[in-house]
Amino acid sequence: MTEGEGPTDAARANGGAGPVRGHERHLVRCLYCREAFDLFAAPWCGHGGTTHPSKRCLHCGRCLCQHPSYEDPSFWKEAPPAFKRNGFRQLFLLYV
Ligand SMILES: [Zn+2]
Ligand SMILES: [Zn+2]
Repeated sequence: MTEGEGPTDAARANGGAGPVRGHERHLVRCLYCREAFDLFAAPWCGHGGTTHPSKRCLHCGRCLCQHPSYEDPSFWKEAPPAFKRNGFRQLFLLYV
């Protein structure tokens, strides 16, 4: 397995298909529609308020605020550094 060592400039210039350096991704599966989406790329739902805001699924657009476990502290842990860089203070355990 020695061929194809590293991406070529042509592949990079091709644009879009390869991994984007500096952009972290975290694929999760929506609890409602079961589709996978990039948690970091998903928009915040904007509910916020007294609880932690949640992300909206890129497929069905539903956020987690209405999830029965969302206000249960045992379903939360401190966000890892990668999550903090993406605006998370805490991490909802069903979205890891
Ligand atoms: Zn969904
Ligand atoms: Zn919400």
